[in-house]
Parts: sequence; C-alpha cells; structure tokens
Amino acid sequence: MFAKLKPRPRTVAELIERTSIPEPNSGCWIWVAGVWRGRRGLLYGYASFQGRTRLAHRASYEAFKGPIPDGLCVCHACDNTLCVNPDHLWLGTQRDNMRDMTRKGRHPNSPAAIALTDTTNHTNTRANGARGMGA
Ligand SMILES: [Zn+2]
Repeated sequence: MFAKLKPRPRTVAELIERTSIPEPNSGCWIWVAGVWRGRRGLLYGYASFQGRTRLAHRASYEAFKGPIPDGLCVCHACDNTLCVNPDHLWLGTQRDNMRDMTRKGRHPNSPAAIALTDTTNHTNTRANGARGMGA
C-alpha cells in the first residue's frame, strides 16, 4: 500500500477539485485559494500550477472541457465569478460577455463608472509639466 503523501496535485483538474468547495444549492464550486480583484471590483480565483498562475475558472475550463480559442472569454452561467464548476462555464466573445453582464445588471455603466469618465474634461491646464515621463 502506498502512503497517501501527495503534496502537490498532478493535474490542473486535481488542483481545481481540491481547491474548491461544492455549494449544494447552486451547484457552484467555490474557489477557496487565491483571489484577485478584477475590473469593476469582481473577484476571480487564481490558480498556480507548475509555476504558472492563471485565472482559476479559465484553468478549470481547459482542464475539464478543452482548450480556449484565442480571444474568447470563459463566462459564468451562474454569475458567480469565484465558481470553477466547468458545467457553469461557457465560451463567449468579449461582446457576448458584455451583453450577458448588461442583461444581469453588471454593466460598467454604473453610476460609479460614469462619475469616473466625467473627470476627463478638465485636463487643459498646462502642457509643459509632463514632458519626458514616457506616459
Ligand atoms: Zn457556478
């Protein structure tokens, strides 16, 4: 009999299964390791495997369903950005994703986002201060 000493998961699928907790009501697998706060304050899990760190839901999609074509997003059918259940993930374009978020009320046209873009009208004071900054 082999001792059960496996400090590291051997596959990404194993890592995903070990690092998430099934949520019985929604069926979501909630990521319980590293979390990254993305744009618009949404939280995403990130997974480190063999020296590579990537978004956990994308890693999950690839591990269980297959490669993600270039330029496509992995979207959450359940709207829970910390969920890594491959059955809740679908491939869409950036546009699909935005449309989906709009429908669910997560579009960036929130009052906070509008307030931010409103501040861009006050830039014309002095033009010679910022030269050479490489910005
Ligand atoms: Zn889910």
